[in-house]
Amino acid sequence: MTAPVFRFAPSPNGELHLGHALSALTNQSMAASSGGRLLLRIEDIDVTRCSPEYETGIFRDLAWLGFGWEEPVRRQSEHFGDYEAALERLKKDELVYPAFMSRGDIRAVIVEHEAKGKSWPRDPDGAPLYPGTDKTLSQRERQRRIDAGVPFAWRLDTTAAVERLGHQLAWREWSSEAMTAAADIAAEPAQWGDVIIARKEIPTSYHLSVVVDDALQGISHVVRGKDLYFATSVQRLLQEALGLPAPSYFHHRLVPGPDGRKLSKSQRDTGLAALRDAGETPETIRAMLGL
Ligand code: GLU
Repeated sequence: MTAPVFRFAPSPNGELHLGHALSALTNQSMAASSGGRLLLRIEDIDVTRCSPEYETGIFRDLAWLGFGWEEPVRRQSEHFGDYEAALERLKKDELVYPAFMSRGDIRAVIVEHEAKGKSWPRDPDGAPLYPGTDKTLSQRERQRRIDAGVPFAWRLDTTAAVERLGHQLAWREWSSEAMTAAADIAAEPAQWGDVIIARKEIPTSYHLSVVVDDALQGISHVVRGKDLYFATSVQRLLQEALGLPAPSYFHHRLVPGPDGRKLSKSQRDTGLAALRDAGETPETIRAMLGL
């Protein structure tokens, strides 16, 4: 049997905080206890928000924590061609469509709808679903708009992708870090509507690059925070649409911030660099995380 493969996949768009430390260390301990490999992936497709300084900070903070990763590190910004190939396949299979509505257009549709006293569906993160009207545009009209330079994003035709599947979609979720028991969770990609798969400025998206990379890197176990639990539904659908293998998943607890809310990269006091400067050690960080 081949060894399990784990990955920690931060985005260099801010400093690592305690939540990242929990994720990295959970991956590390699960890899160690299962005789698995441990990879680090830099998710820097958003070249406007990511920076080499933050990336350097990630390497420095992880080395300090004692997180040992395999080289070479995969940096997503160096692999746009891989995501483009996956996008081409989705285009060929007519599972994505060019979506031309701007944020303002979307808002106008929702306001009009809500004015009639009807509520507009929202995704698990609270964002309104994309109105699927562009799906009915003719091929000619699509081409006309593209040629005229109308901005657009490629969106997944989620309904079509689910119908094409023809079977129930699920993922395997470990119930604890010990990986002694797992449950099959029903995926509900329709909750997210027609998600963005690629944009004009960034020719991919988080969901597309993550499934392509997990497959290319042979990731068998995806271990990440509970904030990405529901995203798994979309990612499973994309894996099926692209003929990629399904890893198993473990979504670990989140570390609450000092105010009890979710940690963010702007809360500097929980940043690993700030904690180190304040005299904390890898041992005290583990203790803070209850490890
Ligand atoms: N890059 C994502 C983040 O920093 C994590 C992606 C994943 O683990 O699937 O939130």
